[in-house]
Amino acid sequence: MSSSSSTLVYTPIEEISKIHASLKENFNNGTGKLADINYRKNQLLQLGYIFQDNFSRWEEALAKDMGRPRLDSYMCVLYAYNNVNSWAKPSGPSTWNYIWAPLSPTILKEPKGVVLYILPFNLPIWTLTGLAGAIAAGCPCVIKPSELTPASAALMAELFPKYLDQDLYRIVNGGVEETTKLLELPWDHIMYTGSGRVGRIVATAAAKHLTPITLELGGKSPAIVDSTANISLSARRIFWGKVMNCGQICVAPDYVIVTEDVKDEFIKECEAAYKSFFPEGPEKSESFSRIISEGHTQRLKNLIDQTRGEIVFGGDVDIKARYVSPTLVKNVALDDVLMQDEIFGPVLSVVSVKNAGEAIRIINGRERPLALYIFSNDSKLKKFVLENTLSGSVVVNDVVIQGGCHLVPFGGTGASGCLICYFTSDTRHSICINGQFFEFSIGKQIEAFTTTVNGIVTFEA
Ligand code: NAD
Repeated sequence: MSSSSSTLVYTPIEEISKIHASLKENFNNGTGKLADINYRKNQLLQLGYIFQDNFSRWEEALAKDMGRPRLDSYMCVLYAYNNVNSWAKPSGPSTWNYIWAPLSPTILKEPKGVVLYILPFNLPIWTLTGLAGAIAAGCPCVIKPSELTPASAALMAELFPKYLDQDLYRIVNGGVEETTKLLELPWDHIMYTGSGRVGRIVATAAAKHLTPITLELGGKSPAIVDSTANISLSARRIFWGKVMNCGQICVAPDYVIVTEDVKDEFIKECEAAYKSFFPEGPEKSESFSRIISEGHTQRLKNLIDQTRGEIVFGGDVDIKARYVSPTLVKNVALDDVLMQDEIFGPVLSVVSVKNAGEAIRIINGRERPLALYIFSNDSKLKKFVLENTLSGSVVVNDVVIQGGCHLVPFGGTGASGCLICYFTSDTRHSICINGQFFEFSIGKQIEAFTTTVNGIVTFEA
């Protein structure tokens, strides 16, 4: 495989199984370097240097791929670097038990094996942060960037071999055909970030080999605004979340549910936010990105043309320029085209309701969202929404910020994605002194519990 910084070269199909086989071989019968935490730390630093040393080239690639404004993407490996020693340390049970303590049960944190990591187009660098976790866990990885970001994918193909150990970390570039070939192979774990449609293809392929998977998907993330909220601030924040990266953010607010008493005020404040964000107009603004492809731009144009809602502002589309202006649509009915699939563009629908109970019914009548936003200063309402909905994360009085916080888990639930298990081995090694081992299936119960609970993250700004 060869690539320059501007031309994306797909990995030849026949190379793909060879790359997989060599990583498997190096994991199973390698030199044992993965067991050395200092080796993993070195590779983590190298991963960071790929971005630090080549900052302006990444900025250039992101601008080429999606007209991305400067500094709109980042990557942090230091958290994994600083914590890998304690993460990788064997641990004991959290509570002391007089029957089991003398047997010193211990959990070893063993890497699962070779990981396939499939990336989406919308945040080529940010979505790579999971790679740091896989490196910290001691897993060799194959990374498959999105073919819709050719400049970033080509830069990965050029730089990764210069910085990372090629025996264990490889880039495979390509589209559907190459990804299909990758998915035929028996990986030890697949991390997939992208749409639910392809997520189902990935899950089906993984099932053939009983490969555990992490699905990081999308969907329609709602924002609720009630009369106790600061309406001006709510409109600014929701609108910012919608225009950032031209609405192509997995946790962007997809639609807003506003109580009728503040609907007009909310719309007026959205117009004010629009004018203050783009005084010269969005087309000229350096902080407004473009849609990833002409096909995606056409999809958004179709939605704008077909909606039965009322366009308050925006609605301008230039297919060739991949431009869609920030668009606000009011009086959107629940069965409108805008309320079917994830919008993934700068079009914000406003749905009005009489009360919070109605908002909950709308949310619970749909697939579980990746994110849920509550704009309210009524503590009873916040509690009510939290207790009566399920989503990947909840943020109160702000949007999108949860994706930037490395201190809490990030993920979805149901159709917005699920963490089926972690990188470290799911086969717990219980070390029992004196050769006795009593099987009460407690470990399995704990595991079943931890993989079926939903880690909801709450923020309040
Ligand atoms: P996508 O599903 O179209 O593509 C993702 C990857 O799948 C790409 O690498 C692509 O090459 C591959 N792919 C596409 N079609 C395939 C097929 N038929 N068979 C096998 N592989 C195939 O997703 P996208 O449009 O690049 O990304 C946008 C989606 O990702 C949105 O839904 C967004 O919400 C979601 N997303 C989620 C997160 C998260 O953390 N939960 C983060 C970013 C994006």
